[in-house]
Order: sequence, then structure tokens, then C-alpha cells
Amino acid sequence: MAPTKKPQNKRNARIAKKKSQLKAAHDNKKVLKDLLKEAEDLENQCAKEGAELQEMKVALDRLYNADAEINECKSCRLEFNKEDRIPRLLKCGHTVCENCYFTKAKTYKREQYPIYKCLECKEKIKLITYQENNDGKPPKNYTIATYIDKYF
Ligand SMILES: [Zn+2]
Ligand SMILES: [Zn+2]
Repeated sequence: MAPTKKPQNKRNARIAKKKSQLKAAHDNKKVLKDLLKEAEDLENQCAKEGAELQEMKVALDRLYNADAEINECKSCRLEFNKEDRIPRLLKCGHTVCENCYFTKAKTYKREQYPIYKCLECKEKIKLITYQENNDGKPPKNYTIATYIDKYF
């Protein structure tokens, strides 16, 4: 019986080896599958965070532009300040820096007094309008002035 038992043992051993190899392969496949799932999750998370970052960027851009809209003189495109570019509120409702108001005012042919022409609505404002105010200056736009004080 010994000669027949030997090959059978050998075959059993081979089967056992194949089985363990299959199991190892199966385990590896599971590990790979888990890794793949993990990678997918990470990818999804990154996409979500990317979208959130994009939203933040848009919001920041909007804020930045709103800032420029408020703190810049529309005439010279420079930021208002507390010295020579104090924001001055014109009677048309628009605001211009003090420097532009005085330096860009002109005396037109049939006019007696210098006139500042509002860049935004084209209203002609006689400089004499504010003669009784502090040194002929239109009132300060306090909303913008406070904003400049606070953030610049
Ligand atoms: Zn200006
Ligand atoms: Zn105006």
C-alpha cells in the first residue's frame, strides 16, 4: 500500500498548496478592493473640498470687488484716504475724492463759476454750491470715511 499512498499524499499536498495560494489571492483581492474603495472615498472628499474651496474663492472675489467698489474714487481710481482724497458726497448722491472734486472742476464758457461734472451721472455741480460749508467742500461721506478708518 505504501507506493500508492505516496503519490496521493503528494497530490493532497499540491491541492493544499493551491488552496492556500487561492486563499492568499482572494485575501489580496479583498485588500485591493478595500484600497480601491478608500481611494474612491478620498477622491470624492477631495472633489467636495475642491468645490467648497471654489465657492470660498468666489465669495472672496466678490468681497474684494465690493471693497474696491466702495473704497475707490470712481474718477481717479485711487483709494480714498484721510488726507487729500477724503470721500466727498455730492448733491447728486455720488461720491468723489476731494482732490478730483477740486482739480477736475472747470469753468465753462458761459458759466461764471467752476463746475464739477459728476462722472457717474453727468450732473453739473457748481463749486459755489458748497461755499457755506467747510471751505467750500461738499460734506464728507461718513459711511465711506468710517469704512476707510476701520479697514485701511
Ligand atoms: Zn479721485
Ligand atoms: Zn452724480
